[in-house]
Amino acid sequence: MKITVNIALPVPIDKLFTYEMEWEGDINKLSGSRVLVPFGRRVLTGIVIEDNKHPATTHKLKKVIELIDENPSFSPELLKLSKWISQYYFCPLGLVLKAALPTGMSPKTLIKVSLLKNLNDTEIENFCGKSNKKKLFLQYLHHHDEPVSLAYLKRKLMMPYINDFLDALAQSGIIKVETGLTKSAAVKSQKGVQLTDDYFNNENKLQQLLDDFDKKKPKHSLLISRIYLNQSKGNIPKISTLIKELNLSRSVLQTLEKKGIVKIIEIEIDRSMTDEKSLSERDESKLPLTEEQQICLDSIISSIDKKDSKPILLHGVTGSGKTLIYMHAIRHVLQKNKNVLLLVPEISLTPQLIDRFRNVFGDSVVALHSRMSEGERFDAWRFIRNGDKRIVIGARSAVFAPLQNTGLIIVDEEHEQTYKQDSPAPRYNARDTAVMRARFEETPIILGSATPSIESMYNAETDKYKLLEINSRADNAQLPEIITVDKIAAAKTGQFSGSLSKLLIDEIEEKLTNKEGIILFQNRRGFASFLECPDCGYIPMCKNCDVSLTYHKKKNQLRCHYCGYTIDAYKSCPACGYPELKEFGFGTQRIEDELMSLLQKDGFNPVIQRVDLDTTHKKGALRRIFTAFIAGEVDILVGTQMVAKGLDFERVTLVGVINADLQMFLPDFRATERTFQLLTQVAGRSGRSRKAGKVLIQTSHPRHPAIKAALNSSYNMFYKKELASRREMNYPPFVRFTLIEFSGKNETSVEQKANEFFNLIPRHKSFLIFGVTQPFIPKLQNKYRRIIIIKDNKQTDPNSKIMRKALTFAFDEYSKKYSSASVSVKIDIDAYNSM
Ligand code: ADP
Ligand code: ZN
Repeated sequence: MKITVNIALPVPIDKLFTYEMEWEGDINKLSGSRVLVPFGRRVLTGIVIEDNKHPATTHKLKKVIELIDENPSFSPELLKLSKWISQYYFCPLGLVLKAALPTGMSPKTLIKVSLLKNLNDTEIENFCGKSNKKKLFLQYLHHHDEPVSLAYLKRKLMMPYINDFLDALAQSGIIKVETGLTKSAAVKSQKGVQLTDDYFNNENKLQQLLDDFDKKKPKHSLLISRIYLNQSKGNIPKISTLIKELNLSRSVLQTLEKKGIVKIIEIEIDRSMTDEKSLSERDESKLPLTEEQQICLDSIISSIDKKDSKPILLHGVTGSGKTLIYMHAIRHVLQKNKNVLLLVPEISLTPQLIDRFRNVFGDSVVALHSRMSEGERFDAWRFIRNGDKRIVIGARSAVFAPLQNTGLIIVDEEHEQTYKQDSPAPRYNARDTAVMRARFEETPIILGSATPSIESMYNAETDKYKLLEINSRADNAQLPEIITVDKIAAAKTGQFSGSLSKLLIDEIEEKLTNKEGIILFQNRRGFASFLECPDCGYIPMCKNCDVSLTYHKKKNQLRCHYCGYTIDAYKSCPACGYPELKEFGFGTQRIEDELMSLLQKDGFNPVIQRVDLDTTHKKGALRRIFTAFIAGEVDILVGTQMVAKGLDFERVTLVGVINADLQMFLPDFRATERTFQLLTQVAGRSGRSRKAGKVLIQTSHPRHPAIKAALNSSYNMFYKKELASRREMNYPPFVRFTLIEFSGKNETSVEQKANEFFNLIPRHKSFLIFGVTQPFIPKLQNKYRRIIIIKDNKQTDPNSKIMRKALTFAFDEYSKKYSSASVSVKIDIDAYNSM
């Protein structure tokens, strides 16, 4: 029967598209399935959203090319969640659904171009005349034997609009344009081998065979016994492994198959399983719970049993054993035959956590994260979907994990800003999305943190969330002693040189003597290490972005941390010619050098290891560093945020914060909150076992509220002060903070478009709207930027309906009347990044 279906496509247009397709059977079963459809000149993967029960009408519709799924990729619950995201965060549904699937699951048109005639340089010159663009294009193809993808060419040659001359070139027979589909993720299988039932079930026959082989072909005998042993344990050995280990040729197995002794079968591979060495081996779940832990667990279990989806905020100081509570709650959920979703801020940075869960729950744990290959992710997705994997641990996008029958959702370190997707759309917050998911699926949800976000704590205070607290560390460990070093005062008395105080050096030397672990933290985000001319004050800036370039000493390069722009460091000042530039600010690299020379002067020779993006970009590097640190082969870790969070290393008794002020004065209303959270988290790495821990914070502002609260380990002190200031200044949690950003290469038109948009937004007493302004970084990746900020009162507009209506109106009108391809508009609801 011919039916019409509505399909969401991954294009930035907020509507569904109607197609026609052949379909027999239950129409309702189509919803959520992937289909391939023609769209303009391209082929795209779309998702069937709802069916139209009436047979096709007369007007001509395009046909669906292929139904990809046997069973829908999206469950009704996940569709519902995606629709919510689409509405709440102002993002076309098709883009939300695309973000929810592993990349390899949305094949689309791939256009490849190759040269037909082999033109030499003069011929190219003659042919192209004045068109430089054409010339570059043909020259590029000329140097490539294989067809090149069009999308790649556009990016590589920075020519977004080449479709015009593409057709002309194809018609004159100079190039060939082929269309196909991008590679789509597929099940991977390998050949495995088993004994036939004849031999496996008949011991006498098998013994006879082995005896025969023993005499003539001992290797065969070895092979057969190896297969037999595996098979009796329920395993199917891979042929590739066997022939490698026994040094056989593949034909041996074929011969044995012909004789009816073995059968060769295809086995599905699970690429999501890693075989990396675990960072810890103990099964923590056997530890007896402390009284506080037990009280929290009981309350969580009662929510699980009642299927109560009112979020639980678990506020436990660092080292209070929140992980242990999760483990017990998870065990309870598994016993009820349900599954668990555990969200973590950035999983590739916390290899330790996965190991801790694998030690307890074994292979039913699966990780989903950004460093996995397409195949690994696809396998993880499949095995979650079919229920083989029951505990999913993943970062932000794992909130879309195709888990069925969810019994518990946990968001660990719920305050982390990495839960918010910045670009591209959908700009969702995975924590808030998880809360919605829990509501839709009637599942309990735990938000855990030692430093809850102001928003979440306020939700607990106003009884939207249920609050559970743990005030002391587990296992009799004490919270560390925290002291500050006033940098300015210390410098005046000669107790501070470079970036390190005398006090910190003394502490480090004491710990080194005792062979205890030391972590030094330097948040170099943004302003660390740059060069400045001591004569004219010139600072090398990125040519694409309005930010200073960061100095990388080892490679002697200047690099932009926003766009990646890199140049060799100047030897003399390019502005005034002064013969040298001075290094300012302190990156991790500089601190490592400085520290080493100070310690060596005092007769120490420690192993120092840097932990930052530069030293950990290789897969598994971070894990190796941590392993060495645990084993005591490394004495001091000097690192960025990567050493600040989640790590549980017993031997760490000293944490030093090199400069607590870096983050504090950024023009962002969350700057104080982030500073407090970061300091508390990094301090929390110290003294997690029976040995007392110490934390030393170097700052020029020891009386700043964020520092004082961290010093007193007092979340409440921080929360009260910060909440009052948010209330006074109209910031979240009292308002919904929305940011509309305009960007483009031409500053005047960016300004103009922003103003046009601004004038279209209907005013309402429920929200404050601020005129067009320049953000803190006015130019980024070669594009000028302007922003409009809207603060929507949560009391008068509780579900954001009023603001959404106003924004929808403005956006539609703007799209009709003013929108321009050269200025892009992005709407960011509950924005985290306002710089
Ligand atoms: P958090 O996540 O709250 O910072 P962790 O779960 O990492 O804390 O726990 C800190 C350390 O204390 C871990 O090494 C953990 O195994 C240990 N621990 C937790 N609960 C107990 C307990 N009840 N008895 C003994 N040790 C515990
Ligand atoms: Zn840049």
